[in-house]
Amino acid sequence: MVVVGGGPAGLAAAIALRQRGFRVMVVERGFPPIDKPCGEGVMPDGVAALSQLGVVCNGALPFRGIRFTESGDSVDGMFPRCYGLGMRRTLLHKSLVDRALETGIVLRWGESARLSGDFAVEIRCERLPCRWIVGADGRESLVRRRAGFSPPAKMPVRIGFRQHFRAAPWTDLVEVHWHDRGHAVVTPVAPDEICVSLLANDVRTRMAELLELYPDLMRRLAGAQISGTARGAVCSASKMSSVVRHRVALIGDAAGAMDAITGEGLALSFRQACALADAMADGRLENYEKAHRRFRRPSALMSRLMLTIGSHRRLRRRMLDALTTYPTVLSFALGVHSGLLPITAVPVGPAAGFLSRLLIGSSSKTQRRTSQMALDYTPKAIAPMRE
Ligand SMILES: Cc1cc2nc3c(=O)[nH]c(=O)nc-3n(C[C@H](O)[C@H](O)[C@H](O)COP(=O)(O)OP(=O)(O)OC[C@H]3O[C@@H](n4cnc5c(N)ncnc54)[C@H](O)[C@@H]3O)c2cc1C
Repeated sequence: MVVVGGGPAGLAAAIALRQRGFRVMVVERGFPPIDKPCGEGVMPDGVAALSQLGVVCNGALPFRGIRFTESGDSVDGMFPRCYGLGMRRTLLHKSLVDRALETGIVLRWGESARLSGDFAVEIRCERLPCRWIVGADGRESLVRRRAGFSPPAKMPVRIGFRQHFRAAPWTDLVEVHWHDRGHAVVTPVAPDEICVSLLANDVRTRMAELLELYPDLMRRLAGAQISGTARGAVCSASKMSSVVRHRVALIGDAAGAMDAITGEGLALSFRQACALADAMADGRLENYEKAHRRFRRPSALMSRLMLTIGSHRRLRRRMLDALTTYPTVLSFALGVHSGLLPITAVPVGPAAGFLSRLLIGSSSKTQRRTSQMALDYTPKAIAPMRE
């Protein structure tokens, strides 16, 4: 079994396959630990999948929910009895590599893999013998193209940046700051460090311009030292009609990327990894295809909803107002979004109230609301338990 791409999806797939007894080799053109522009938050379903894979992320910081905020108004939604993990992308990568080595996976760094016409993986002049090929080579997947998959349906292109700041997190929530031109996501990644990722709808936007759109965030960061280098990437969501063809299966961004607004890219990759390994162990790759579609659906829906609401100021104001009035709706929505709760779990009364307030609006002004828990919070690094 050869996995092309040693990013989070490729390593997770390799570990899951190894756990089911396959002999696995990962070919990656970069060198560890691999960094990338990312919001650096792993949602609770991803934390559960990491635990299933036996991956321990020592030093990661838990977050208990999501805060939506704009112009001083904010609303908090807590995950239902679970938590996400914030951590530097390099820490996540290192943790996955450590686990891969522990399980006996062969890792080949600094090698660019190609797929030949007869479905063999080649590195320079070497042909790698394999029964199955996993394409985990990211958004611009070469495996996807060479294996003859239909090209992904592309969504609007956006630009994303990431910068770390040396500052103690002021909350144990991931903050999403809204603006007409995009959004900013603040993730606590260590007891003395936060990650700010900035997404803009206009790809010509520069990072310095973006930070200034969020004066509340700028005030929080006043005096905080920048740590590490900023990274940026053009990014777009994409959707695949199929993720399995002959002996090739796609995973992670290669199998269709989510818009960064969902914060689900990593979690989906980890869940896909477990489903792919199960399907391969049963010799029924069609089960992976089905699972892939099932996992993706709630995030795709949430992504469309967030992007639509996010690009209309009036809708954003109404959403904040409606969520402030019906705060349980946000917690349930987060549970459904990350696949932890079925959509039928959302209570009908509050959901109907929320929708009517969102669509029709209300005459009363949105309340200013700050979480007490956030003020009392002392950050502490923990690691997920191994099962
Ligand atoms: C701005 C931004 C913010 C984001 N924020 C979040 C977030 O907060 N939470 C979240 O869950 N997700 C987030 N995401 C999404 C997340 O980063 C991706 O979903 C995730 O990186 C997908 O992992 P992957 O392994 O599929 O792809 P990648 O991380 O792109 O890895 C692919 C790997 O394949 C290698 N490769 C490519 N071609 C070859 C080849 N021919 N041979 C060998 N190796 C090859 C590459 O070097 C690379 O290492 C964000 C994305 C962006 C752009």
